[in-house]
Amino acid sequence: MLEVKAICEDCKEKFKVNSETISKTTFKTNDGKIVDVVHYECPKCGRVHYVQIDDENTKRLLENSKVVMKQAMVYYFRKQTPPKKIKTKLEKIKKKISSARLQLMKDYNNTVFVDLQSKEEVNMHFSL
Ligand SMILES: [Zn+2]
Repeated sequence: MLEVKAICEDCKEKFKVNSETISKTTFKTNDGKIVDVVHYECPKCGRVHYVQIDDENTKRLLENSKVVMKQAMVYYFRKQTPPKKIKTKLEKIKKKISSARLQLMKDYNNTVFVDLQSKEEVNMHFSL
């Protein structure tokens, strides 16, 4: 299981984050966009850290990257090296995704999101 070390921004507690402690919530932004935000909680003080955001654009790019990944897998299954073209394409998409996500975090930092399920308002502060 993939584990990432994290430090709480409030109480400086060090803890591990994995797929069991990380969650994703769908929000509506202040300008009406529907986005998925990935977050985890500090086990000591309960501070929520918002670490990743996806909108229609990054979700589409993610789908694209999956398609290219599958193309590469075909070569790996045959124990061949995928052509450089495929690797370059994948790297390009990944770069696009990370810069688009970063831009979204900057654009929406300290704005109010509405949780689509609980209708609760959350002041979004991203951990950049
Ligand atoms: Zn904490």
